[in-house]
Amino acid sequence: MLYYSTNHTAPLASLEEAVVKGLAGDRGLYMPENIKTLSQDFYDNIDKMSFQEIAYTVADAFFGEDVDAESLKQIVYDTLAFDCPVVPVTENIYTLELFHGPTLAFKDVGARFMARLLQYFIKKENKGGLVNVLVATSGDTGSAVANGFLGVDGIHVYVLYPKGKVSPIQECQFTTLGKNITAIEVDGVFDDCQALVKSAFMDEELNKHMKLTSANSINVARFLPQAFYYFYAYAQMKRMGKSDNVVMCVPSGNFGNICAALFGHRMGLPIKRFIAANNANDIFYQYLQTGKYVPQPSKATLANAMDVGDPSNFARIYELYKGSHSSIVSLISGATFSDEEIADTMRKCYADNGYVLDPHGACGYQALKNLLKPDEVGVFCETAHPAKFKEKVDAILSSDIDIPARLQEFMKGTKQSVAMSKEFADFKTYLIKQ
Ligand SMILES: *Cc1c(COP(=O)(O)O)cnc(C)c1O
Repeated sequence: MLYYSTNHTAPLASLEEAVVKGLAGDRGLYMPENIKTLSQDFYDNIDKMSFQEIAYTVADAFFGEDVDAESLKQIVYDTLAFDCPVVPVTENIYTLELFHGPTLAFKDVGARFMARLLQYFIKKENKGGLVNVLVATSGDTGSAVANGFLGVDGIHVYVLYPKGKVSPIQECQFTTLGKNITAIEVDGVFDDCQALVKSAFMDEELNKHMKLTSANSINVARFLPQAFYYFYAYAQMKRMGKSDNVVMCVPSGNFGNICAALFGHRMGLPIKRFIAANNANDIFYQYLQTGKYVPQPSKATLANAMDVGDPSNFARIYELYKGSHSSIVSLISGATFSDEEIADTMRKCYADNGYVLDPHGACGYQALKNLLKPDEVGVFCETAHPAKFKEKVDAILSSDIDIPARLQEFMKGTKQSVAMSKEFADFKTYLIKQ
């Protein structure tokens, strides 16, 4: 299958090119040339299939022409070595818990899948030499990418993070791993980390010296596998006899997760409609109201993984519906919540249902509370385990929530990182020496 750019001027790319390059040459995002509809038989029997079986069917539709069946199966089964259960919260609202992966973030699936796919291409071509993945993080992406790529031979990962600006748990998740993961602590803010990564990709000398690639969320190999979640959620709703009129609600920042869900819908997944839940960064919400997409500087909120002022995957959603505002609003609605509303929702949901929401999931839950119609069943994504935001959650709920054993394990390790200034010259000198 070939991939085209949402800006329509870059040449078509193979899957391998799209994965290695990340962004197309014209700065557009790669889209698969066609999106296959899955058979009625698949949807009729989906409730009898395992998460891995469902995911393999979906993966085959996208990647089956480029990856042999046995390898693709291995990549899928290795990626999905955990569950993502649908859990009832109220009578007609369910949550899809996307936080049972290795770092308790939904980004684990895309990160691991991309790592294994990249490894597949490196091995197949037997090119040898190391591929270096650079990733800038404000927290969550770094841990998911570092853990996804951990121990994958032929690939070295450099995680750049702003000194003192990530939570202690998050920092442990990428600084204690060792092996092929190097954490770089930049004396600056997140934007400085991102600028260092961008400069590295543009530096000719550096690119001659070493093979560089990025693992940010615009990569097709990172965002598409998230579609697996939605097929499996539907299967679970069908098992419970609740699969008619399902409304899927996705707390959104860069819109990669909901975009994968919309790809699923295009493949025939019978979800009635979608809601994109936002924090105060309401660019998409405003687009739905006005038809105008106006990027804004991002605002810091309680749900900080959604603090995005120019969501990169908007371009993919726009392309999927050929720029038709009416098509988009007929399928997707929006919601936006202030920090105060997020905190109120967390308190109320805990008091009413005994369910601890994290600040991101709270946006999803409240959007369904506000927008669900009587004949509909709502499913919202819980995108992170509340313990990842323990300080905030405990302060809001006056609680002392448990930290899962898997997170505690990370905190036992020894922190190792390379101190770096925010000057590109220093970073370049460091990379050349590796
Ligand atoms: C990344 C992230 C989001 C936003 O997902 P997008 O795919 O960027 O829309 C929401 N919640 C959490 C906890 C995240 O880590």
